[in-house]
Amino acid sequence: MDLEKRTALKLGALTIGASWALRPEPAEANTPATPFIIKPTYIPIANRNEMFPVRRIYCIGRNYAAHAREMGSDPTREPPFFFQKPTDAIQFVAPGSVTDHPYPSLTKNYHYEVELVAALKSGGKNIPINQALEHVFGYALGLDMTRRDLQRAMGDEKKPWEIGKSFDNSAPIGPLHTVSQLGGHFTKETISLAVNGQQKQRATLAHMIWSVAEQISKLSEANELFPGDIIYSGTPENVGPVVRGDVILCKLERLPDLSIKII
Ligand code: MN
Repeated sequence: MDLEKRTALKLGALTIGASWALRPEPAEANTPATPFIIKPTYIPIANRNEMFPVRRIYCIGRNYAAHAREMGSDPTREPPFFFQKPTDAIQFVAPGSVTDHPYPSLTKNYHYEVELVAALKSGGKNIPINQALEHVFGYALGLDMTRRDLQRAMGDEKKPWEIGKSFDNSAPIGPLHTVSQLGGHFTKETISLAVNGQQKQRATLAHMIWSVAEQISKLSEANELFPGDIIYSGTPENVGPVVRGDVILCKLERLPDLSIKII
């Protein structure tokens, strides 16, 4: 039984590009007998022979003033708010590839949101802002893909956003780079997104309303944070729709480009 389970876990590892074919260690002791196996979610770590195990995906809403205004809210008064995507919404996108990304069901207005993602190596409750960055393992470039029509419709009806934000493959992400590999944390780098070669989003991270440190601190008031939690840190203005056949190219200084094709 043990042998069977280990084999299944190995087979359950992410299917990723050959140059990113990293094999996570299978779970060992203390695993109870289960009637089936659930695939864990990992993000490859650049230049390391190990994977980052994902516990939870948090996302901050409306974290750039111009994007808050385009979504119809007042960026000067709103405290930060967060939502989650399911852990297995991660779609790993290997650098140098254009990964096929399935157009999701139910929507007629599918939007991109390019974002810096912070990944935690430790956690806690009520983390002070000035200690928050000590918990960051590394960063990646990601997309918070959104069924905008469903998000808006649910918001209008005062229902949860869930169906607009939390669905299969809604969290494309590139490899994680550790803080030491990067030579420090992100501050005011340029983040941008183009569709079919035409620039759509472009901003500096300095335009975030709430910094990554502030996000970690604020989140830790609502939930105890743990190693493996990742935080999508919000998108700048000029979000917009894509259709099948479109190619999205995301850039962030100091990280490799991320590209997907909507199919
Ligand atoms: Mn977002």
